Amino acid sequence: MPSTGKSSIWSEGRKKKLLTELERLYPDPQSELQFQNDYQLLIAVILSAQCTDKKVNEVTPALFRKYKDFKQLAKASVSDVETLIRQVNYFKTKSKNIVATAKIVATDYDGKLPLERSALEALPGVGRKTTNVVLSEKGVEPAFPVDTHVYRVSRRLRLATRTDRDKVEEQIRMKFDPSLWRNLHHWLIFHGRRVCKAQNPLCDECTLSNLCPSSEP
Ligand code: SF4
Repeated sequence: MPSTGKSSIWSEGRKKKLLTELERLYPDPQSELQFQNDYQLLIAVILSAQCTDKKVNEVTPALFRKYKDFKQLAKASVSDVETLIRQVNYFKTKSKNIVATAKIVATDYDGKLPLERSALEALPGVGRKTTNVVLSEKGVEPAFPVDTHVYRVSRRLRLATRTDRDKVEEQIRMKFDPSLWRNLHHWLIFHGRRVCKAQNPLCDECTLSNLCPSSEP
């Protein structure tokens, strides 16, 4: 398993090389979740916690066909939602959360997702990462969501050294201009999924290895 260290190695020159290579590798840094509006975005992101985007994309078409917006989902029975999303990890908790969230959005915001950090973070099943994803995807404010891939790859590259996710987010935000956060988030996810895998990182195939202190020969 690659090691992670504590010293800062990221000069401006090294950061530029890293960003150039990530952009070359992943020229289209977009979410792999499928959504068409704010409602679908929030629900898909909630469902994606500890679950692959691929699995979420398999269940959301039927869910969104039946419940087309927050107001409709607010009236759903939790057991029906469970049936629709049962292939997703933690489907029982997530079913409860998305129906509860839909009720709040339907009642307190007339069915329109509030695009403010404090309002989003107050919704059931919505934490800092989900809020950051929504704000970043909607272009409301620059944000850097830290999911499991971003956390792992950031630490292996020693872009971040802290163990707490909020601190990892802070360390990255301190290192890069806000205009880069959204793309960097997607690039690190892509790299984590395809190359810098959790169990067996493909260091011998990794074109970042010359920049990575955790590279294994
Ligand atoms: S060399 Fe690449 S695959 Fe290996 S730990 Fe570093 S970033 Fe991950």
